[in-house]
Amino acid sequence: MKKLTLSEADVTTQVKSFLQALGWRPLRMQRTVIKGQFQTGEPGIPDFLFLHYQTGGILWIEFKSEKGRLSNDQKDWHATERLKFPAVTLLTISSLQQFQQWHALNQHKLYRRAA
Ligand SMILES: [Mg+2]
Repeated sequence: MKKLTLSEADVTTQVKSFLQALGWRPLRMQRTVIKGQFQTGEPGIPDFLFLHYQTGGILWIEFKSEKGRLSNDQKDWHATERLKFPAVTLLTISSLQQFQQWHALNQHKLYRRAA
């Protein structure tokens, strides 16, 4: 039997719903360039920034399909952000289960203040 593999869009929908149910505000990040007119975002910026206003939680997530890999721009963005801001929480996620395991183990640093 063929194994079902989740697309990046599937993983995004699942993790986003999980976080929204916990009160997180998702912000879609995107690199857009209209040559000679305008640009937004940064090369390699993660797919989403999540904010948890109640507790001051801040979380960047780059979503990938099961077999997806970071591009060079994404690797550079991650490395630069970690160097400049060692307290950043920045994940590369390719399944809901992977994220839920991380979430269970890291609540203390994710939710900085009592709600
Ligand atoms: Mg992605």
